Amino acid sequence: MSTKNGPRVTFVTDARLLALCDRVPIIRHRASITNSLICAYNLLDQVKVVPSVPASEEDIRGFHSEEYVQFLKTAEADREDVTEEEFGLGFDCPVIDNLWPMVCQIAGASLTAARALTSGQANYAINWYGGWHHAQRDSASGFCYVNDIVLAIRQLHVKFDKVLYIDLDVHHGDGVENAFLFTPKVMTLSFHQLEAGFFPGTGEKHDVGCGKGRHYTLNVPYRVGINNKQFIYLFESILYELCEVYFPDAIVCQCGADAISGDPIGGGNLTPDAFKSCIQHIRNLNKPTLFLGGGGYNKVNAAKLWTVITSAIVDKQLSTDIPEHRFFPLYGPSFELEVSVGLRKSENSQKSLDETINTVRENIGKLAELLGKKT
Ligand SMILES: [Zn+2]
Repeated sequence: MSTKNGPRVTFVTDARLLALCDRVPIIRHRASITNSLICAYNLLDQVKVVPSVPASEEDIRGFHSEEYVQFLKTAEADREDVTEEEFGLGFDCPVIDNLWPMVCQIAGASLTAARALTSGQANYAINWYGGWHHAQRDSASGFCYVNDIVLAIRQLHVKFDKVLYIDLDVHHGDGVENAFLFTPKVMTLSFHQLEAGFFPGTGEKHDVGCGKGRHYTLNVPYRVGINNKQFIYLFESILYELCEVYFPDAIVCQCGADAISGDPIGGGNLTPDAFKSCIQHIRNLNKPTLFLGGGGYNKVNAAKLWTVITSAIVDKQLSTDIPEHRFFPLYGPSFELEVSVGLRKSENSQKSLDETINTVRENIGKLAELLGKKT
């Protein structure tokens, strides 16, 4: 439970959710590794643990198309037919056994967390097993089968009018951005690496949304090798400026771990300290906030990151020595919570960061004009 004066935090976890998430091929056992580390640091004593309620078919259809949902329901691991390609199922999103129960549980976990905020039960809610930001309305993409984030934001709209979505994953949050591209009801803000050939290849700084949703989308691209100082600089330069113009009623923060140094897919050079700073800034805004996981293909580093963020949310200092627990051997040879910075040189210069910030600030200025406010 929460401490007397500390924030009220709901943490979604249960054995079935972990078992199903553990089976996703690219991140096999990551859910259990993460959960075990958080337990080992006794962080669950500081939160209200809530089991996930699986999403219904109707819940999933709140965003996904009927055809895609039908396909997910009937997909079987040994079936090889052309339809798989049509729905984005194939190379990076293989059909696996129990796919439908898995996606319902993951989506349901984020909906459970969102409901903890809409019911007023918690100020902060956490689902480290959600955050699948690439899934599109009618297809899987980039290891994401259903977009639990879009579904959770829809749930938040039951109570909160204006939702700010912040995406810290190394990849562009394209699925969430596309879902809300035409609406002013969600402000999406994605920080991501943008390089030729780097997935998904979208999220230019000039992309600001369409139609009624124009200026309610912000993109902050950076180059390979970004470090803590540069990332925090980007984040601080934009978040407060945006929140002076757009006052969110609730926040969703996708904390993908793949910009952390040592990730085999991302190209970033961050450590959990960068996220700690970002989380502190988000906490300063004092809004109900949903924290979600996302990418993170160095499983130990992802577990470390989400443990550090959980500790930052509940205001608890952690010992740097990894406690003895089920997955302890994975943390060798140092057995420390810290993540070392890599040798990779940042391709971001002060000039390139400032140019990006200036463009994004101009975009925020246009939103301010639209809202009839002075910047
Ligand atoms: Zn990612």
